Amino acid sequence: MERVRTRFAPSPTGYLHIGGLRTALYGYLYAKNHGGDFILRIEDTDTARYVDGSVQIIYDTLRDSGIMYDEGPDVGGAYGPYIQSERKEIYKKYAEKLVELGGAYYCFCTPERVASLKDEEGNVRYDKHCLHLSKEEIEENIKNGVPYVIRQNVPLEGTGTYHDLVYGDISVDYKDIEDGILLKTDGMPTYNFANVIDDHLMGITHVIRGTEYLSSTPKYNLMYDAFGWERPVYIHLPPIMKDAQHKLSKRNGDASYEDFVKKGFVKESIINYIALLGWSPKSNVEKMSLTELKEHFSLDGISKSPSIFDETKMKWLSGEYIKEMTFEQFKEHALPFLKNTKEYGKYDEDKLLALVKSRVQIFSEIPEKLDFLEEFGAFDVNLFVNEKQKASVELAKTLLPQIKTVLENVNEWQNSVLFDVLVKLSAEAGVKKQALLWIARIAITAKEATAGGATEIAELIGKEETLRRIDFSMGLLK
Ligand code: GLU
Repeated sequence: MERVRTRFAPSPTGYLHIGGLRTALYGYLYAKNHGGDFILRIEDTDTARYVDGSVQIIYDTLRDSGIMYDEGPDVGGAYGPYIQSERKEIYKKYAEKLVELGGAYYCFCTPERVASLKDEEGNVRYDKHCLHLSKEEIEENIKNGVPYVIRQNVPLEGTGTYHDLVYGDISVDYKDIEDGILLKTDGMPTYNFANVIDDHLMGITHVIRGTEYLSSTPKYNLMYDAFGWERPVYIHLPPIMKDAQHKLSKRNGDASYEDFVKKGFVKESIINYIALLGWSPKSNVEKMSLTELKEHFSLDGISKSPSIFDETKMKWLSGEYIKEMTFEQFKEHALPFLKNTKEYGKYDEDKLLALVKSRVQIFSEIPEKLDFLEEFGAFDVNLFVNEKQKASVELAKTLLPQIKTVLENVNEWQNSVLFDVLVKLSAEAGVKKQALLWIARIAITAKEATAGGATEIAELIGKEETLRRIDFSMGLLK
């Protein structure tokens, strides 16, 4: 079998959106699943849409997420250059060849003439005027420096049909395709031309891209056929939606890979989740590392229907990855987020992290889980009320002085010791241990919900601070 070669061909227009990353991922997974090559090609021929710095974002995102390409602008390869603006000579040569083959023609019409070709609906469609110029007229014009474009010569009749691996047989009538521009006046190719030339010259066997290209593919096939080149296998991917009506798009403020990393999602979970947007594994196992994805990915799992991006599900996956991390791995990733926690510097880093590890799904949740570390102050004493645990303000009034006394006598200030002491006290006082622990926790945190119970938190903030907080809470109850 021919060696599989896939490519990711982004335009450097500012960011790498989630849909683009999924296209890259599927191309990578398919190639790796087949022991083939994955190529990165930068499609920068639309200079008007070029955004500085975006090529770097593409390199960084792919590397960071583990989607490593075998060939590309910054890694080289035998089929370069891999940046389209550096391939102008190549396109010129092939455009001229296509003209010779009858698949394209020179067009010297002025933009004004083209604009005047409006139909009743106001759509401009080129009328093949220049197709009929004689060889001499063309040579004369070129000699005189008349600006020209090269247009595709699309048949007026007939139908272009091809098979897409996801969407099945696709047919488009040629009368619905216009003689689009292949080479612009400045010598730059359009996407419509460059993608064909490059995919062929770079030996791409499988073209994986978004459905927006599904209906223009017949015009690319006309060119493959005119050149006598083998058409690639086509795999068009369903759109990713934000909800039933709207496509996910960074332009509408939807987050990109980078944004999700900044928000504290585990990187592996982002890639894992993106893999599931439009593809389902044969097994029911959804949590898969990149290595597992490479092993299990197959084209028949790709669905035709749009998938909805569900951040809650991605968060869940991220939490699963956190659970599996060793403490050291967790610490490495969590530390920058811990540093956003107020007052964290006063406490033992490892203890804080141990407290939150099982309680966060994404790293950015760390500060809110530790909000009780912040300056402790006046709170509503009704927080002591917990009907289910049978805790009340009255009970708090009675128990807090006793809690304070037993804690004062603890020398080994450790969660387990503190826990035993308080449980013993609850038995002596004849109250439910949950009620006592509730009251103790409210008294030292002033928060209804906290990461960790009373004694874990007491260990963390230390004896002095614990007793200070209990005193303060007793004061509130007077
Ligand atoms: N440059 C095109 C885009 O960013 C690539 C489409 C393709 O993969 O052929 O949409």
